[in-house]
Amino acid sequence: MTRTIKPLVAGNWKMNGLKADLAIAAAVAKGADAPLRQAVDLAICPPATLLFTLTASLIGSRIATGGQDCSAHASGAYTGEVSAQMLVDAGATYVIVGHSERRTLHGESNAQVKAKAEAALAEGLTPIVCVGETKDEREAGKALAVVKKQLRGSVPDGATAASLVVAYEPVWAIGTGLTPTPADVAEMHEAIRAELGPILGKATAAGVRLLYGGSVKPGNAAELMNVANVDGALVGGASLKAEDFLAIARACA
Ligand code: PEP
Repeated sequence: MTRTIKPLVAGNWKMNGLKADLAIAAAVAKGADAPLRQAVDLAICPPATLLFTLTASLIGSRIATGGQDCSAHASGAYTGEVSAQMLVDAGATYVIVGHSERRTLHGESNAQVKAKAEAALAEGLTPIVCVGETKDEREAGKALAVVKKQLRGSVPDGATAASLVVAYEPVWAIGTGLTPTPADVAEMHEAIRAELGPILGKATAAGVRLLYGGSVKPGNAAELMNVANVDGALVGGASLKAEDFLAIARACA
């Protein structure tokens, strides 16, 4: 497959990882040879507690890091929150916003996700804006409508192709071992790119990286990553094993 957009494979460690797990990042850096790094951008999004140390440990590897969430606020009395500026200060390049676990478990609305993405952009961070339908919504034939609505509500104003990533993550595929068919992924990613046109302008929309996420594993990565308009992966569980993460990245190269 000839790619016009350099793919990104980002690992979401979620609430996993202690200092000892810096070894996973070290193994990724060791295994990511020059041709792979030239073909695919790699990023690891560890828990906030590890971000500074992990980023420092990757200096020279050209592997980027990211946060898993950020506050919509710049600073102040928001106990427990981490600002976009703090993520930048810790060395992050990316931040995941609107992950379905945040939308579901923390009740985040599209407007809140958009505000977080805009806070990220204001600090020079690239937001990875997550969208995706539930199982019930897919079974009711509403997947496209749900995701389009999420995009209209969550995509930040003023993003460029280089400063925004969108991840399609069907909620029912996250951590379940289930994945949509390549045809379903193709249909959704085509619709997402089309929907970004009126929001960002057609030229910008054409260059935004669209990641697929949800139970990506070494065994299914090649099939999913070779779908049109899939420009990489957001990887949860498999990103905690260096070899699996690298195998997925190689499937994008
Ligand atoms: C995720 O949480 O973003 C994710 C894609 O998880 P998993 O790969 O484990 O399904």
